[in-house]
Amino acid sequence: MGASNPHPHCQIWSSRALPNEVAKEQASQRAWREERGRCLLCEYLELELAARHRVVEENDTFLTVVPFWAVWPFETAVISKRHLPSIDRLSEAEREGLADILKRTTARYDRLFKVSFPYSMGFHQRPTDGAAHDEHHLHLHFYPPLLRSATVRKFLVGYEMLATPQRDITAESAAARLRAV
Ligand SMILES: [Zn+2]
Ligand SMILES: [Zn+2]
Repeated sequence: MGASNPHPHCQIWSSRALPNEVAKEQASQRAWREERGRCLLCEYLELELAARHRVVEENDTFLTVVPFWAVWPFETAVISKRHLPSIDRLSEAEREGLADILKRTTARYDRLFKVSFPYSMGFHQRPTDGAAHDEHHLHLHFYPPLLRSATVRKFLVGYEMLATPQRDITAESAAARLRAV
């Protein structure tokens, strides 16, 4: 996806201050760790693996789920099965596993509406300020804009912009549809 023209591209952002989304995730992961003595995403992985109904893809090292908080209709999160804070800590098997699950997840997207499926995707990992930041758990988010077909997209409008997002389909039904293709 591009802002003006559809085209594939990739960006790496680096800044002196943590952007809002990363800062919120860091605060939540830190608070969870202080309260429960465990990693938030490690516990979340266990929950999704036990429930199974939001799981889309899985291999030995990564899991793709439609998270229960998904705002975009076919939003997914790809989460490392092992607790590791950043992409530079991936083992060789995890590098292979990441490539494998990205290919399989995006192929499901493409098959869903039989189109080269548009999306924004990005990694979240620890800051590079020299601290260990063991509260961070490597994961990435897919935010695709399509809702009902290759041409009917989701817009965040009205109440969604002024109050809170509304869900057009449930996370469970989105995961079931992605699993089925
Ligand atoms: Zn973890
Ligand atoms: Zn994240």
